[in-house]
Amino acid sequence: MASTKDTEDSLMREEAHRVLTEYMTEHHLRKTPERYAVLNAVYSFDGLFDADQLYQQLESQFRVSRASIYTTLDLLARVGLVVRNQMPSKVYYERNVQGQLHFYKACTECGKLERFSNESMGRLIKEMPVRRFHPSMYALTVVGLCSHCLTNINRRKKRLDKKKALNAKAALAGKTASAKERGKERNKTDKS
Ligand SMILES: [Zn+2]
Repeated sequence: MASTKDTEDSLMREEAHRVLTEYMTEHHLRKTPERYAVLNAVYSFDGLFDADQLYQQLESQFRVSRASIYTTLDLLARVGLVVRNQMPSKVYYERNVQGQLHFYKACTECGKLERFSNESMGRLIKEMPVRRFHPSMYALTVVGLCSHCLTNINRRKKRLDKKKALNAKAALAGKTASAKERGKERNKTDKS
C-alpha cells in the first residue's frame, strides 16, 4: 500500500504536470519528453538540490544534456514550479508547491544553503495580508554563519590572538634586552 507521503508526492507531481502542460500550450512550446523527465526528477527531490545532482538522477534513466537541464530548470522557474536560489558558489533549486513556505539558512562563509522550518513563523507569514497581490510562494532567507564555519572562525581568531600575544611578549622581551645592553654600553663609556 502506498504511504500518505507517496500519495501526496504523486498528487503534487500530477498537478505540476498539469501546470507545465498548460503553460507550454499557452506559450506554444514543444511538449518534449525531456521536459517532463526533468520535471519528474525535480519533484523526486524532497529538499534542495543542484543541477549536478539532477543530472546524476536523470543520467541513469534518460539521455539528457546538461544544457537542456538548465533550460528546463529556467522554464520551470518561470512557470513557478521550481524555486531558484543563487548562492555565491552555486545555484540551489527546490520544487515549489502552491503556497509552500521556503525557509533557508545561507552561510556567507562556505556558501551552503540549508532548509529549515518554523511552524509559528510559517503561520504568521501565511496570515500576513499582502495588498493587491496573490501570493503563490513564500521564501525567507536568513543570512549568517553556519555552526561549522563559526567554530572555524573562532578557532582561527583564537590562534591569531595567541600569536599576537606571543609576538607582543617577544617584542617586549627584545626591548628590555636591548635596553639592558644600552645600559651596559653606557656604563662602559662612563667608566672610560
Ligand atoms: Zn558555513
